[in-house]
Amino acid sequence: MTHTSRQVIGQCACGKVRLEVDVPVFWAWHDHSEATRRAQGCAYATYVGVWKSKLRIAKGATHIATYEDKKRKTVRSFCAACGTPLMYERGHSPRMINLPRALFAGRVGREPRYHIAAEASPEWAYAQEPLVPLKGYPGVMWDRRKKKPKDEGLEDFLTRFP
Ligand SMILES: [Zn+2]
Repeated sequence: MTHTSRQVIGQCACGKVRLEVDVPVFWAWHDHSEATRRAQGCAYATYVGVWKSKLRIAKGATHIATYEDKKRKTVRSFCAACGTPLMYERGHSPRMINLPRALFAGRVGREPRYHIAAEASPEWAYAQEPLVPLKGYPGVMWDRRKKKPKDEGLEDFLTRFP
């Protein structure tokens, strides 16, 4: 046998679905788009992109439900039992499939160094601001910097002086 690829297993929260991919994956990226933010329920999602031929449903295919967004030409799959997002297919790259990086506990052979739709990142996304422990709440950290006074635009200024 000349084929010597290594495989890693990813799984959903409840463990009913397991995905197996050959590594290294093709690439890894952060998606800040609004559609992904809503679908994944987080500020941004980190995906690994793999050729479809490198992915196998190792367990639980019957538990996989899909949602097709015809307008955006995307298909998102998730575990029907626990809701974990599993696969994200984009119409413009039909031979590639994207899997949430978080499904995999181990290494996948690529660091996520690319960002898509970075300009769509919401203002509430955590951007590595310095954190300190919150007194009296073990395990809670917070950003205690004072908020900057809101910038006043010229139009706001002028409306106060009719
Ligand atoms: Zn599940």
